[in-house]
Amino acid sequence: TENQRTALITGANKGIGKEIARQLAQRGFAVFIGARDIAKGREASEELCQAGYDSTFIQLDVTDPVSIKNACGTFSQKADHLDVLVNNAGILEDHGETIVKLNPELLDRTLKSNVSGPIMVIQDFLEYLQKSQDGGRIINVSSGAGALNDMDTYAPAYSISKTALNAVTKQFAGALRDQNIAVNCVDPGWVRTDMGGENASRSVEKGAETIVWLATEAPQSESGKFWHDKQEVAW
Ligand code: NDP
Repeated sequence: TENQRTALITGANKGIGKEIARQLAQRGFAVFIGARDIAKGREASEELCQAGYDSTFIQLDVTDPVSIKNACGTFSQKADHLDVLVNNAGILEDHGETIVKLNPELLDRTLKSNVSGPIMVIQDFLEYLQKSQDGGRIINVSSGAGALNDMDTYAPAYSISKTALNAVTKQFAGALRDQNIAVNCVDPGWVRTDMGGENASRSVEKGAETIVWLATEAPQSESGKFWHDKQEVAW
């Protein structure tokens, strides 16, 4: 339908991203499942369709500018506006070293996926967010590891990338404020996924909760903030 709400979630083939897509689809969104792997992305999208939801797979590797451009092309064949963009895709590679021995190539890889990727995705999908009737919403999935106030020595490349993603959030919030596009970032907590591991304290349902809230019920005026459990938290 013409004014159906739409959402694009990157890295939505598994983990928190897949659950965000499910919860938004359940609330009536037409969801776009961004995934770099065609087979895994199709399968996740198919699962939602079989549950009766409106879901479309879009191949999207956030580190590849050509893939992002192609994803925009695919998107534009199905929708003319984007209400919600969730930059969820991310990598955590940790070899136990502190920054004293940090491999610069690991840092480059991590920044490419977790920082440059979200920047490029926002830049290329901005024209569709600008066409959202209610004002677009961008949610960047960050981490408590990126919070400067209690940063220690855990996974330095990853932690630095999430601090940078928080800065990216602030920058876009400022740049897009007069366009009524809200930009926020979220610490989902420690969540049971391939990344979080089986000992993590939270379910994917709980991990997705605040992200889905920011995508839906949160006031449009909330922008440029770092959130955890629907509360603003320190950078
Ligand atoms: P998973 O490892 O389970 O899923 C990560 C997803 O990101 C996968 O779909 C993966 O695709 C995708 N991805 C990675 N790189 C790219 C890329 N270049 N292009 C497109 N997709 C990519 O992790 P989670 O679900 O746990 O994490 C989701 C987000 O939540 C991440 O940003 C993470 O940093 C953050 N987070 C997670 C926490 C946790 O405890 N789990 C805690 C704090 C933050 P593929 O399957 O192809 O690898």
